[in-house]
Amino acid sequence: MSFVSTRGSKPTTLDAALLAGLAPDGGLFVPTELPRFEFRDFADCHDCATTAEVLLAPFVAGTPLEPDLAAISAETFSFPVPLVCLGADAPHVLELFHGPTAAFKDVGARFLAACMARIAALDAARPITILVATSGDTGGAVAAAFFERRGFEVAVLFPSGRVSARQQQQLTCWGGNVHAFEVAGSFDDCQRLVKAAFADTELNERYRLSSANSINIGRLLPQSVYYANAALQHLRATGKPLSLIIPTGNLGNGLAAVLARAIGLPIGQIVFATNANKTIPDFLSTGEYQSRESLATLASAMDVGNPSNMERLRHLFGEADALNRQIRAVSVDDAAIRQSLRATFAQFGMIVCPHTATGFHAWQKLSPTTRDADDWAIVATAHPAKFDDIVEPLLGQNVPVPPALAELLGRPAHATRIEPDLGALQNGLMRPEQ
Ligand SMILES: *Cc1c(COP(=O)(O)O)cnc(C)c1O
Repeated sequence: MSFVSTRGSKPTTLDAALLAGLAPDGGLFVPTELPRFEFRDFADCHDCATTAEVLLAPFVAGTPLEPDLAAISAETFSFPVPLVCLGADAPHVLELFHGPTAAFKDVGARFLAACMARIAALDAARPITILVATSGDTGGAVAAAFFERRGFEVAVLFPSGRVSARQQQQLTCWGGNVHAFEVAGSFDDCQRLVKAAFADTELNERYRLSSANSINIGRLLPQSVYYANAALQHLRATGKPLSLIIPTGNLGNGLAAVLARAIGLPIGQIVFATNANKTIPDFLSTGEYQSRESLATLASAMDVGNPSNMERLRHLFGEADALNRQIRAVSVDDAAIRQSLRATFAQFGMIVCPHTATGFHAWQKLSPTTRDADDWAIVATAHPAKFDDIVEPLLGQNVPVPPALAELLGRPAHATRIEPDLGALQNGLMRPEQ
């Protein structure tokens, strides 16, 4: 299988696309063709790791990753991704937060790290530096996935004061080969800084910069696997496809679901729930794509005004007219997030994170016929304990901390504070705090 840029450059293989991150023409890598699966292809698959071996096989075929796919899949999916039933007349919840940093981004980050460790030319004397900007969850997941991997350094840039206290702890608690930079600016400033670093040839060569942000095709593909596994499990149990509501920001997770359905998995309807950043719903209703400055909301990991994966979605699945036949998108503002958090706890006894709350709100807003006709799963993107500062005061409840998160919270934290300019980042890379 080959991969091309959304902007048209010549085809390449998955391993090369994965190492490059962004295509040379500035576009995003997409597969040139989509494989087509049948239900029976997955007859022997009963968890995410074995589903990954089947689903990802055509994408890695012919690359150096092919012989290691089983090992890579097992390494990536070393934790459960349960589809939880909340009872009759209630939605299912697909819990993506049982990984080391308690958000779904662990999946993409671990797959990417497992692949890179096998295909990059590793040299302990000249490590590859994974440079990543984060609005909260990506940085922790990438740090955890590359922590203590020989031949890699990690530099994580996060916006000062714009991530939750526990997210910040997960970004800054590693030490060793992981360096955290607290940038005096917004997430967009962090992203600009990363782009500037990649555009600087000297810096690039000196640090062997590589990216791990959500535009990397290596983050996207494994995310299709948990949708596939959940939908197959549901079909076996009930004979029905599974419809999905997906909290959406940069659209990586949502696109992975659309992709899984397109290659033959039994997924019904797909609804994207955004926060007040409503670039995607507006695009679908007006047909005009208009990027915006991002707004700060309670679901901060979805504060994206210009979702990068939109370019992939349009390339693979068409413009607004075509997309309106395949997906829906709804915007959920902060007042509705608060209300939904409370209602979800009252109705189902379930404590959810603010991102997941957008999904519950979207489910409540489905027409009763739509809600009853299909079996719905709301995608739980992070554990609520990561956002205790928002969730606990709203519910008047303590959120129990999962063990993996508790372990990280107990570690000492270090970050280098920098201004949002390339010189400051360069100095920081030269003298990282340990
Ligand atoms: C990243 C993230 C999202 C948004 O996912 P995208 O793939 O960017 O759409 C939603 N919820 C949480 C908790 C996240 O960390």
